[in-house]
Amino acid sequence: MTAIAVLAGGVGGARFVRGLLHHERAQETTPAGRTRTHVRVIANTGDDMWLNGLRVCPDLDTLMYTLGGGISEDQGWGRNGETRRTSAEISAYGRGWDWFTLGDLDLATHVVRTDLLRQGSTLTEVTEFLCRRWQPGVELLPMSDDAVETHVRLTQDIDEHPAGSLIHFEEWWVRYRAAVPAGEFVQVGLDTAQATEQVIEAILSADVVVLPPSNPVVSVGTILAVPGVREALGRTLAPVVGISPIIGGAAVHGMADQCLEAIGVPSTALDVALHYGARRDGGVLDAWLVDTTDASAVAPLDEAGIRAAAVPLWMTDVPATADMVAAALDLVRLPAPS
Ligand code: GDP
Ligand code: CA
Repeated sequence: MTAIAVLAGGVGGARFVRGLLHHERAQETTPAGRTRTHVRVIANTGDDMWLNGLRVCPDLDTLMYTLGGGISEDQGWGRNGETRRTSAEISAYGRGWDWFTLGDLDLATHVVRTDLLRQGSTLTEVTEFLCRRWQPGVELLPMSDDAVETHVRLTQDIDEHPAGSLIHFEEWWVRYRAAVPAGEFVQVGLDTAQATEQVIEAILSADVVVLPPSNPVVSVGTILAVPGVREALGRTLAPVVGISPIIGGAAVHGMADQCLEAIGVPSTALDVALHYGARRDGGVLDAWLVDTTDASAVAPLDEAGIRAAAVPLWMTDVPATADMVAAALDLVRLPAPS
């Protein structure tokens, strides 16, 4: 059996893993008859929050619904066939946040999750339970069972929030569309958090570890910050290959560039890879895929000890994403450069 571990955020991570599964299942049915691939997805839980008394885990749910066939394809997040009657009732009481509505079907997931957490289950156990229904075809693992929530330090007053205060990442992202300058990202709860045993084991026992084109700061960056994760990536015998979320100097969808700006990293495919760093120098990457428009990054990356190649990186559909996966896996199967 081949084991693949993926460190993923929400929408970008989910689309990538869908392509990965497509690629692996196609390989398994070729005459060469590869054995089945077991995919473990380590999900960012830094976007998690309490809302109306319920524990909401945006990236875990985007992964679970996308891979389980329950996603709203138009939005890229939330349930298909969704209605919003409960949120309208909550607003009628003057409660909730008008910038973050939860659909009726989605609410059921949060109710079940919160109930199980309150009965003492860990988030890992709850996620496994929810996935029994959705059958995502991967083992979905929260990065930690401890709450680690990404907050944004404001550098100016906005609405009821004074400059210098912290707001939840989702408020900065969804309510303010990342248009308010972020002084820094703070992971509240990180001091006492740990990666789960399952996460460490997934990395250590993998044949290959993949960093999909998820947000390098608030998705992959958050997972890497959890105590235990970087150390496991340093120790694993598996090669680590990443795919650039930046194409031609801009984030493809989403607002990764605003996040990179806040941590002082230029929004280029080359700079994101150098920010992750080469594994031989204590970073996390052995290899990095850039888009064909960023082919000039390949030589400097090779020089920095990160094997690189340029291929189309637009996840326009599942087969195109599967081709990207094939290119990423090929990159770490090549003999090391002499
Ligand atoms: P989120 O948690 O929902 O924000 O999703 P992720 O962190 O997993 O992924 C978001 C990132 O995916 C965005 O910031 C984009 O840079 C990247 N992305 C989205 N679509 C594509 C695509 O088609 N190709 C590439 N290379 N990156 C993409
Ligand atoms: Ca996210």
